[in-house]
Amino acid sequence: MNEDAIIRKLQRYAPLIGDDCAVIQAPRDQDLLFTTDFSIEGVHFTRASRPEQIGHRAVARSLSDIAAMGGRPLYCLVSIALTAWTDQRWIDGFYRGVNNLLRQTKTQLAGGDISHAKQLICDVMLCGAVAKGKALRRSGARPGDIIYVSGPLGGWRHKSEIVPRLEIGRKLIGKATSCMDISDGLALDLHRLCLASRVATEIDSVPLLDGATIEQALHDGEDYELLYTAHPKRRVPGIRIGTITKGNPGALRYHGKKLAPIGYDHLQQRS
Ligand SMILES: [Mg+2]
Repeated sequence: MNEDAIIRKLQRYAPLIGDDCAVIQAPRDQDLLFTTDFSIEGVHFTRASRPEQIGHRAVARSLSDIAAMGGRPLYCLVSIALTAWTDQRWIDGFYRGVNNLLRQTKTQLAGGDISHAKQLICDVMLCGAVAKGKALRRSGARPGDIIYVSGPLGGWRHKSEIVPRLEIGRKLIGKATSCMDISDGLALDLHRLCLASRVATEIDSVPLLDGATIEQALHDGEDYELLYTAHPKRRVPGIRIGTITKGNPGALRYHGKKLAPIGYDHLQQRS
């Protein structure tokens, strides 16, 4: 099967594909959101994973970023470098995983690229939208705000599937003072949020996934829950984990003790 044949197959359910670019009318009174995420063999998955799972996961990671901004996903570009071991069945399975999640979230496949490499590489670019000026940012947390997460944590060892928290993200519009998704571990991502907001934080309780340890919940990556703050008088969904404080920007404390902002850092993992 060649590239044109793969594209013809995709066009059956993705009518935006076919020209050199997808042509999309700009939405009125909305800001557009753009995000892109790599999924790389040996880094994000192994070839032992089912192709449906790899496709689903690749899209879910980008959808989680749209959720973190309070947005709704609109269009998706999927680029993939195939390898010698990705046969037709594999490719069909991969796109099945991609499309199932796109359909569930009403996101249209609008294009992408197909190439080949020694290692399977996939890049998912997502475009979403949010009411003008309403996107949830990392920089709005203020001392006294309560910190929440959208679900229990524990990292990649305890998480079999990513569920992008799109619904909860949209509910936070106009309510949360800051928001992001937890991809690299609570400690590191909360540190990033606090740096952006120029505040410090005190964590007092962390909800754990079944079997997870507090260490894993603080420092392992791939939870993909939302992390957000709100004024104490504001009612928001989620689980309270602590409070925003004055202090050195980015400083973290857990039960009164200093907590190091250690998490998953791709540039530290190169070997
Ligand atoms: Mg993110």
